[in-house]
Amino acid sequence: MTTPQPADALSRLAPNYHPLPVTLVSGENARVRDADGREYIDMLAGYSALNFGHRHPALVAAAHDQLDRLTLTSRAFGHDLLEPFATALAALAAPALAAPHPLVLPMNTGAEAVETAVKAARKWGYEVKGVPHDRATIVVAAGNFHGRTTTIVSFSTDEDARRHFGPFTPGFRIVPFGDAQALDDAVDETTVAVLLEPIQGEAGVIVPPPDYLGAVRRICDSAGALFVADEIQSGLGRTGTTFACELWAVRPDLMTLGKALGGGILPVSAVVGSAEVLGVLTAGTHGSTFGGNPLACAVGLAVIELLRGGTHQARARDLGATLHERLGGLVADGALAAARGVGLWAGLDVPPGRGSGRQLCEDLATRGVLAKDTHGSTIRLAPPLTIPRADLDLALDRLTDALG
Ligand SMILES: *Cc1c(COP(=O)(O)O)cnc(C)c1O
Repeated sequence: MTTPQPADALSRLAPNYHPLPVTLVSGENARVRDADGREYIDMLAGYSALNFGHRHPALVAAAHDQLDRLTLTSRAFGHDLLEPFATALAALAAPALAAPHPLVLPMNTGAEAVETAVKAARKWGYEVKGVPHDRATIVVAAGNFHGRTTTIVSFSTDEDARRHFGPFTPGFRIVPFGDAQALDDAVDETTVAVLLEPIQGEAGVIVPPPDYLGAVRRICDSAGALFVADEIQSGLGRTGTTFACELWAVRPDLMTLGKALGGGILPVSAVVGSAEVLGVLTAGTHGSTFGGNPLACAVGLAVIELLRGGTHQARARDLGATLHERLGGLVADGALAAARGVGLWAGLDVPPGRGSGRQLCEDLATRGVLAKDTHGSTIRLAPPLTIPRADLDLALDRLTDALG
């Protein structure tokens, strides 16, 4: 057996990431700085965890106030922000959900929200739908990304995410993303839920065919299965609507939220949706020490407040039009093989023979632009929704130069 050596022989860090060679020390809105004072435009925004930029004043103020009052209670006791947080998040999400009067179950990371949705859907399946004990199935899409826990990688199609992590959790069926017929064929009386990202982020910002999510909703309705939308990356303004499912006026039964819900300050996630479904998670059946803690609720409430006016969603639409227009130009010029996306969110494919996505990201970093490759030749752009137009233009100028 060979012992893998860390890239830097002095590093005591486990090698589960391969970051760009940039060490950041401070940030404000869409700009971050390294120790040498070099400034970069952040075109990744923490994979959409920083939808409101670095250290948004309203979010930092909410966190500071709460740090001086109360930070953690555990759910053994109540605290004064827990109900207000649930009420505000339920109100924000209600227009996008199938059932009125949704419930909120707060967790911390995105993967925990997905795990919570899987558990709730299964328990609902047994107790309400009447699926025979331990026979529940959940249908998911190939190319998905829902997190890194053992159960979640059980239904991943990414070999790197799975290899040598088995044995896996059974009960999942995988169908091609965007293929309604394949989904219809996979659903049967054991199916408790269809779990999808409305737009696949990690896969390279894959937008499904226009009639797909409507068909998913109809298939779920006729099978008596839940539609669970993982909006952890696509939700909270990124696509120009509060939730991506709203682009197609499709209402899921449950949504998982995370990333931007914590305002780029701390991990905050939640499952929001049907009271009939989340109501099966009674005391003692599920929980989290940190879920719904006072600091998380204070920041989450401030995030919801930022989204309530719709100005960030409008910005994502306006700046997104510029982004996609300029990327379309690069495709027309042959500098890019393809560009996809919606709102302030794009996946670009570097043409064959023009180097890897990684090489382009390294080149961009030397030009003061931070982005991240995925799957070899693809680069994801997801700048803060608060990015000044001039910074977006500058980042796209530098991208054009790097591709030239
Ligand atoms: C990031 C992400 C997750 C996992 O979130 P973590 O906070 O990293 O656990 C789940 N689903 C989607 C769609 C994501 O983008």
